[in-house]
Amino acid sequence: MVREIAGDGASPLSLNSNTIVCKFGGTSLADADQIRKAAAIVQSDSNRRFVVVSAPGKRTSDDKKITDLLYLCHSLVQQGLNSAFAFDVIRERYMSIADKLDVPEMFDWLRDVQIQIASGADSDWVASRGEYLNGRLIARFLGARFVDAEDVVVFGLDGKVRASETYARIAATVENENNIVVIPGFYGKDLAGKVRCFSRGGSDITGAIVARAVLAGVYENWTDVSGLLMADPRLIKNPKPIAEVTYREQRELSYMGATVLHDEAVFPVREAGIPIHIRNTNDPAAPGTRIVTTRDSSNSTLVGVAGHKGFVTIFTEKALMNGEVGYGRRMLELLEARGIPYEHAPTSIDTMSVVIRADFLEGREDQVVLDIKNILNPDRIEVLHDLALIATVGEGMSNKIGMAGKLFAALGEAGVNIRMIDQGASEINIIIGVIGADFEKAMQSIYSAFVE
Ligand code: ASP
Repeated sequence: MVREIAGDGASPLSLNSNTIVCKFGGTSLADADQIRKAAAIVQSDSNRRFVVVSAPGKRTSDDKKITDLLYLCHSLVQQGLNSAFAFDVIRERYMSIADKLDVPEMFDWLRDVQIQIASGADSDWVASRGEYLNGRLIARFLGARFVDAEDVVVFGLDGKVRASETYARIAATVENENNIVVIPGFYGKDLAGKVRCFSRGGSDITGAIVARAVLAGVYENWTDVSGLLMADPRLIKNPKPIAEVTYREQRELSYMGATVLHDEAVFPVREAGIPIHIRNTNDPAAPGTRIVTTRDSSNSTLVGVAGHKGFVTIFTEKALMNGEVGYGRRMLELLEARGIPYEHAPTSIDTMSVVIRADFLEGREDQVVLDIKNILNPDRIEVLHDLALIATVGEGMSNKIGMAGKLFAALGEAGVNIRMIDQGASEINIIIGVIGADFEKAMQSIYSAFVE
């Protein structure tokens, strides 16, 4: 994935190191009752000085997100159709919240937005209005200062945030501010004056940027779950919650699909050593998960097991491969030439495999196999479909004897055939590949060997 944040820069602002930046996600702000809960959380600790908000999300699983409705309005206008019906749904949502929270200005704010949408406003501008309107509403409800993200979050023309400039602008804007500050997430403005959005879920990134800019003591990310779990609850019954996890561990788990946070949200705070605390708006007393730089791993070697299906391995074998200079490079180059990223490339003396996500290979597998034959001329080439990868993750794994033994013994006992093994250079994880049909069994046997 393309990094959405470029560059670095020190914050010129030095606030009280107990300052908390709290970001509330869409489900935490989906209706008036949820917004009241969020407001009570903010007001319960005077260190909660910065509030970053998402647009109202889903109230129930079949509800609509405001951001999706805004994209729909934009696309209707683009097709020359009337967007009024779709905008009515947006208006009703905001007006029902505003009536309950007594924010009469909402009517005018909505009218202005609707006029712009109907007159063909650009897609990012339209999408950003979900956060903008919610930010205004919540600032008004809290009696807080509203700082528009377009005035402080600076994008380059390449679509990446200009970090140093953004941190400096935020710091300068809130300097000497004693009131609570509300900033809408998800967007900013580029150097040409155009509003730009992050990718979906990007309010997490804004929260991290604000935390970094004000050098917060903690970045609280309030959502609808009580943090990360040691395994996927759809596969493991009542998995244990993770109290503390390092940035590195969290990255490994989220790469494998265990994610509650936008991937890009970690980088701004990680470089400044600001912990992220994932917390539940509906259960503020729950401990949540803290993402930190280092942790004492002596008692909890392993933090989690995560994995998913949908990978393909292309296995190649060639006599005396180890002496053939450039084999690996040519393999990776031929993938690069077709724009196909690879996940792993395990090798042995005379073999090399590449593990690729099945969706990247779709419709192109035959061409890739042909390229390999033509360019590398291997003795044998085999394609294994339906591979699942499972990562067993924990900082303590690198210096604890017997971890791999325990893992493989558990899989052996469960009758799982391991098709690939990869221990990353960081040694904080062991990744194994199994066929899709063995995925659930493998996950369960690893979890019970290490956790239960
Ligand atoms: N509202 C945006 C979305 O739905 C951004 C966010 O909620 O973080 O993706």
